[in-house]
Amino acid sequence: MPTPADKIRQLTEELNEHNYLYNVLNKPKISDETYDTLLRELADLEEAHPGLLLPDSPTKRVGSDLSKSFPTVVHDIPMLSLDNTYSQDELAEFDARLRRELPGEDLAYAVELKIDGVALSLTYENGLLVRGVTRGDGVQGEEITSNVRTIRSIPIRLRNPMDFCEIRGEVYLSKGAFTEINRRREQNEEALFANPRNAASGTLKMQDPRIVAERNLSFFAYFLRAPEADVTDHSEGVDLLGELGFSVNPERLTCRSLEEIVGYWEKWEGERDELDYEIDGIVVKLNNLAQQGKLGATAKSPRWAMAYKFSARQVQTRLRNILLRVGRTGVVTPVAELEPVLLAGTTVSRATLHNEEELQRKDIREGDTVVLEKGGDVIPKVVEVVLKDRPEDAVPYTFPESCPICDTPLARDPGEVAVRCNNAGCPAQVKGNIRHFSSRTAMDIEGLGEALVDQLVEQELIKDVGDLYSLDLEAVADLKRMAERSARNLLNGLEASKTQPVHRVLFALGIRHIGATVARNLTHHFGSFHQLRKASAEEIEAVHEIGAAIAQSIHVYLNDETNWAIVEKLQAAGLNLVAEKQADTGPKVLEGKTVVITGTLTRWGRQQAQDLVRTHGGKPTSSVSKKTDLLVAGENAGTKQAKAEELGIEILDENAFASLIGE
Ligand SMILES: [Zn+2]
Repeated sequence: MPTPADKIRQLTEELNEHNYLYNVLNKPKISDETYDTLLRELADLEEAHPGLLLPDSPTKRVGSDLSKSFPTVVHDIPMLSLDNTYSQDELAEFDARLRRELPGEDLAYAVELKIDGVALSLTYENGLLVRGVTRGDGVQGEEITSNVRTIRSIPIRLRNPMDFCEIRGEVYLSKGAFTEINRRREQNEEALFANPRNAASGTLKMQDPRIVAERNLSFFAYFLRAPEADVTDHSEGVDLLGELGFSVNPERLTCRSLEEIVGYWEKWEGERDELDYEIDGIVVKLNNLAQQGKLGATAKSPRWAMAYKFSARQVQTRLRNILLRVGRTGVVTPVAELEPVLLAGTTVSRATLHNEEELQRKDIREGDTVVLEKGGDVIPKVVEVVLKDRPEDAVPYTFPESCPICDTPLARDPGEVAVRCNNAGCPAQVKGNIRHFSSRTAMDIEGLGEALVDQLVEQELIKDVGDLYSLDLEAVADLKRMAERSARNLLNGLEASKTQPVHRVLFALGIRHIGATVARNLTHHFGSFHQLRKASAEEIEAVHEIGAAIAQSIHVYLNDETNWAIVEKLQAAGLNLVAEKQADTGPKVLEGKTVVITGTLTRWGRQQAQDLVRTHGGKPTSSVSKKTDLLVAGENAGTKQAKAEELGIEILDENAFASLIGE
């Protein structure tokens, strides 16, 4: 019998290895379920034997206690910023200066992508991560070690031990993870992050490491300082980082001439959208460390490196109107209605102006010419007003005091930028709730389009989602422009939706913070609406992955009489409010299959879809090859679909994939 200490040591090593295979090499050997089972086994052992907890335990990645504040730490060696330029001439001057200052020497440049993330310094002692510090002002930053531990591509223990080393790199959010975060925030009507960098930077400074862990931050290492390492070139150092267990960017190149550097820049300027992370240029570093030493640094930046940036993708257009959209939770969002303009390949006619504060800060007025910007997957945003083109009669925009839909005075919660209409009966909110309820990922009610929702609410045929199931054919058919056939379609759609499982019903209610996954976890744990209603907020919070805000929100919602009356109407209509006993799982549909997901999916974020593939026994990979068994093609699937067709690989669209896995 192995002792608990042996078992803990063995599980820790095994899990760390799988973590490395999955998060750094992207070549998982075991399923997520198996990983979770092992992790739980380790967590149980650690709880039973707290004295045996190892410093590199993977259970620490899940997130520990709240940090009240982040102590300030002075960097051993300042984290300088790089000189940067948008101009090829300046890059040429940089190259010429280096050749002048190092006459007769052989020059090579290490050229890398400039990841648009947040710089971070990591310190390892005796092979263990002891400190993670933000760049801050370059001289001192904030220590955020507990958050850094949750980033799975950062090793807690180096694969080859070293007494001491400092590693620097960039924390970033993949486009997939970013889209997923914003998708959830949109569902909860929380303010969206403008771009992955803002989201990464905000996430790193959150006080709850558990939330940080959920956000799926990634890290590319690009700098190593290790007195005991024997490296002469920057690129050797980066290779060594890979051996130590870090994720390093694969698109590196050694260049010997300006032409080669420009060629690399042009290639990535054109192909940046194909990467799953944002880049904003390239970084050019003198490769030889001895030569770097000869050139030294100014107070601000090293003299041997230069960032050559991509120009932002911007266009100008006229802002016709500022519209106000009232969402289903009552948040009022200003939206710019624009003269349609082509930006990075898509026609843009609307852009969110986020909130009142943002509107006023930028002093955006109707009739203004504005600068629009978009990069990669990022939502187009209004960067600034072109003041010289402002019409003489333009007046500052005043945010209304009352709801544009129902005239209820708007509420401004202290400490929150959102402005809200708190009238639960506000037609805009009722419509929003019904649209959410009937949407594809919720109850998926066929025949209930947007225009019909508007009519049903405006004609007062329904006041909340509970009334949907008591609609009668005649009343619906009497609506304007409504054929009897369409009315019948709606009733059939409603009837069909009654078979949706309980977790969909819970999600469909659109309760704040209750996304699809949370709804699934809650109904799985409590089994029914009634049990969930009886549970205290503390009991709800004890469920895996449920935080305090979620627990509070669901508890308050279900114990409110008005809300419960809606639930009772749904129950009377025969909807599933009790979880079905889970059937024993037979062979999984994707067992042993290699699946590539490409294009934009409407139901799930990329990450979520990949998790589903794993749940159903498959292995998600990112590139199409002969070994691929199945390609799931969303919208704008592009080159991967073409390649899959060429290789004769089975291709499913989103709907076909969803029905295959029974979602
Ligand atoms: Zn209102």
